[in-house]
Amino acid sequence: MTPKPESPLAAPLEVHDAPEPGDPRIGQISGHVREIIRILGLSPDRDPNLFDTDRRVAKMFLEIFSGLDEGTKPKLTTFPNDEHYTAMVMEKEIPFYSMCTHHFVPFYGHGHIAYIPNERIVGLSKLPRLLDFFARRPQLQERLTEQVASVLEEELKPLGVMVVIEARHLCVEMRGVRKPGSVTVTSAIRGIFMQKAVREEFLDLLRRRG
Ligand SMILES: [Zn+2]
Repeated sequence: MTPKPESPLAAPLEVHDAPEPGDPRIGQISGHVREIIRILGLSPDRDPNLFDTDRRVAKMFLEIFSGLDEGTKPKLTTFPNDEHYTAMVMEKEIPFYSMCTHHFVPFYGHGHIAYIPNERIVGLSKLPRLLDFFARRPQLQERLTEQVASVLEEELKPLGVMVVIEARHLCVEMRGVRKPGSVTVTSAIRGIFMQKAVREEFLDLLRRRG
C-alpha cells in the first residue's frame, strides 16, 4: 500500500489509507450492493442519489474493515524501562468506531487501556492505534477487548494489562429491543490486575475524568 502524501491537517490517528482505486474488491462488493438496492425496490439506475452508492459502500467497507489486513497492524515500538517505572500507565477515553459482526451496523464508544510495565514500556500513541486496528473489522465488543489485552500481554510482557471498553450498539438502539443510550461495558484482565487492589486503582484513575 503506497502512503498518502502527508496533509498538514491530518490527525496522527489517520493511518488507514482509503482503498486503492484499482482494488478488484471494490467492483465485486459494489455489484452485490447494487443488487441489494434493487431488491429493496429502489432504482440505482434512475435515482441520481443512488448512482454511485454501490461503489461508495464498497469503498467504505474496505476502509472500515481495513483491520482485516494484518499488514495494517501497528508495530508496537517498545523501549527499555530504564527508570524502573512500576506504577500504572493508562490511556483513557480513547474513541473508537467498529462494526457489529452480527448485524453490520456500528458500535462505538471509548476504550481505556492500562498496563504496569516490567522490562519494557510502549510508545503511548500505540495504544489507541492498537484499539483502532482491531476495531476496523466486523467485531464483537468482548473479542475486541480481549484482543487488545492479549497483544499487549504477548508483545510487551508487562506485569499486567487491563482493558475496559464502553460502547453503544446501534443494533440494540435502532432495531430489536430498541434501548437508546444504553452502554455496554466489557473488560479484559491479565496478570497483576487479577488482584482486587490493582483493579481498584485502575477504576480510581478512570473516575478522575476531565
Ligand atoms: Zn449486533
